[in-house]
Amino acid sequence: MTHLKDNLPPVKILLIEDNPGDARLVQIALAEQVSHQFLITWMERLIDALALMDAEPFDIVLSDLLLPDSTGLATVQAIFAHSPAMPLVVLTGSNGKGTGHEAIRLGAQDFIAKRELSAEILGWKLHYAIERQHLKRQLHQANTALEQRVSERTTELQAALQDLSQSELRHRSLFEGALDAIFITDEYSHIVDANPAACRVSGYAVEELKGRHCAEMIPAHFRTQAMQIIAEFRLSGIMDMEFPFLMRNGRECTLRVSGSSISGGLFVCIARDITERKQAAEAMKRLAYNDALTQLPNRTALQIRLSKAIVHAQAHGHTMALLLLDLNNFREINDTLGHHNGDRVLMQVAGRLSSVLDETDVLARLGGDEFAVLLPQLADKEHIDQVVHKIHDVLRPEVMVEGVPLDVQTAIGIALYPEHGRDADTLLRHADVAMYTAKETHCSHLLYSSKADHYNPQQLALMAELRLGLQREELTLHYQPVVDLKTGHVAGVEALVRWQHPIRGLLYPDTFIPAAEKTGLIAPLTTWVLANALRQQHIWHQAGIGLHISVNLSVRNLQQVDIVSEISGALRSSGVKPEWLTLEITESAIMVDPERAKSVLAELHDLGVNLAIDDFGIGHSSLAYLKQLPIDTVKVDKSFVMDFTNPVNAAIVRATIDLAHNLGLRVTAEGVEDESALNALIVMGCEQAQGYHMSRPQAVDKLGDWLRLSPWGLRKFGGVAESESS
Ligand code: C2E
Ligand code: CA
Ligand code: CA
Repeated sequence: MTHLKDNLPPVKILLIEDNPGDARLVQIALAEQVSHQFLITWMERLIDALALMDAEPFDIVLSDLLLPDSTGLATVQAIFAHSPAMPLVVLTGSNGKGTGHEAIRLGAQDFIAKRELSAEILGWKLHYAIERQHLKRQLHQANTALEQRVSERTTELQAALQDLSQSELRHRSLFEGALDAIFITDEYSHIVDANPAACRVSGYAVEELKGRHCAEMIPAHFRTQAMQIIAEFRLSGIMDMEFPFLMRNGRECTLRVSGSSISGGLFVCIARDITERKQAAEAMKRLAYNDALTQLPNRTALQIRLSKAIVHAQAHGHTMALLLLDLNNFREINDTLGHHNGDRVLMQVAGRLSSVLDETDVLARLGGDEFAVLLPQLADKEHIDQVVHKIHDVLRPEVMVEGVPLDVQTAIGIALYPEHGRDADTLLRHADVAMYTAKETHCSHLLYSSKADHYNPQQLALMAELRLGLQREELTLHYQPVVDLKTGHVAGVEALVRWQHPIRGLLYPDTFIPAAEKTGLIAPLTTWVLANALRQQHIWHQAGIGLHISVNLSVRNLQQVDIVSEISGALRSSGVKPEWLTLEITESAIMVDPERAKSVLAELHDLGVNLAIDDFGIGHSSLAYLKQLPIDTVKVDKSFVMDFTNPVNAAIVRATIDLAHNLGLRVTAEGVEDESALNALIVMGCEQAQGYHMSRPQAVDKLGDWLRLSPWGLRKFGGVAESESS
């Protein structure tokens, strides 16, 4: 059997005892101890014992209280003063129980009466004393560690608290200083707090806001809806909405509110006043979809409504009508009375038109003097007649502007859904075609007919491009010499327009002039041609090259109210004298509106410009009629000249020349492609000739070479060519 003491380290005891007998007893008792092994160092005096404690480590002190240098409890105090953590067991006299307890109170672990000294008791008492002291130390260490942790934690907590108060401060200042209104509500939507911005937006003081139910600040018309939104918000905990909001002064504004739930059953709503932004957006929308002058829907708006109406009509099997109209003489009004008065006329027309339409009908202004009426649900075709008559009737009385009675009659073009188109663009285009046809044929209104439609999508696209091309200066002029057959030299040139298309290359007038005439683009095009031809002529004149110049006018130019003033203006600004300009007008152009042509040509003649009838012979007018017009020259159509081998053609040309001469007119033959034709014309007494045989139309620099080098070029290069022969 192994003793317990074999496994444990020996316990080092410092025995302080002046009585050698007692010391011996202790030693014997401890030696008999089986549970522990003891190493005893014996000291008789306290002072020596304390000195030894400094030098050696001991597990425990066993001390008598009556020593030579210390008595009683002073011994205990002295030992603890020296080594406060030292386990101490005191030895007491026969009735030293009271003293022993006192010693324990002072810090001793235990006491043993000397007469009770037995191996068993002493051993265990010492052991427990050490153990207890050990535990006490552990406890102390644990306590110290704990205290340290507590103090660390306290520091941390204090820092956290400081942080917290700082972040609280930050939150508070965010709340106070936020530009957005912040409302904090409880779960029943009562306001519990609001920031200054919320007061600014609402017009209420914080105290007035607190306790108020959110719904109180929602205008009545939105309240039911708002309550529903609020209920959903309470469930979902998030919201992002626009709200109409009733301010304290009774005014309504729009708030964009985003809300979320926060702790404590509260909700925070951040609101921004977007009234102005919304108003601006609405104004932009109005601008985008409404005509600024009349406040009527504009073209874009009409297209949108038309598309919607088509969807509806398709679903319900309705028929619709789209009416397009423009004023017959608006340009004249604008030019003579100014844009300001033109605007007044348009406003009056808009007012009159809307007065005869039903609420379900759509009236739009498409731009300029062009209006559109959409009848989204036709009862029958008579319905259209009724509307057309109402429109004509309401526009019949003259409009008074500055005391001037103005006629605002209109031509109406009509396209039907689905008969004439199933989409907005097609309907608009077809109503447009019908309107132009109505104008050309002097009809008050006309239903679209595919036969009269010269428009096709490619042509329309090309016209949009031509409009741009004009702005981008993509047009250019080629000049074709006109040769005087008496002198054999060039007398003038005809300006012929070309379009240097960025993708399609050089386009000839036949591809774009007819469409330009229909879309009205011919007016700016002619302006451009005239200005550039005259500018070029001025350059030639400055260089001493005296060439006549011919410019073509189209039928639409004759209808322009300002055509005469435009031409005289162009002459003035170019510095070219009128007698150097010839205007060519086709026979067919004159016949569209002979009365108008007669008065315009008379005015142009008065300006001093020369007038020529172009493409003569293919129309059916008699020369006798043309004689009533102040014209100077007849240009025989090239189709006759190009094919002189046909005796009929030759006969026609001969007769035309004779007749013209009888009427005092000069003749120019176009389409001279070979020498025989040229010679035949000379024999017939034709004054001038133009054709590929002499020169094709060419760009100005190439023409320069031709003028110098060709036998038909300038008679004396560098001098003014003599062109006129009487
Ligand atoms: P136009 O006024 O009869 O012009 C003469 C046309 O006949 C030109 O065609 C010219 O190139 C062509 N030509 C001249 N000599 C001959 C020839 O010997 N043989 C053949 N086969 N053709 C010849 P272009 O330049 O293509 O012009 C065609 C038409 O376009 C012009 O016929 C004119 O009506 C119109 N046009 C041209 N420029 C303008 C313009 O600035 N304004 C207007 N309104 N119309 C223009
Ligand atoms: Ca011509
Ligand atoms: Ca011609």
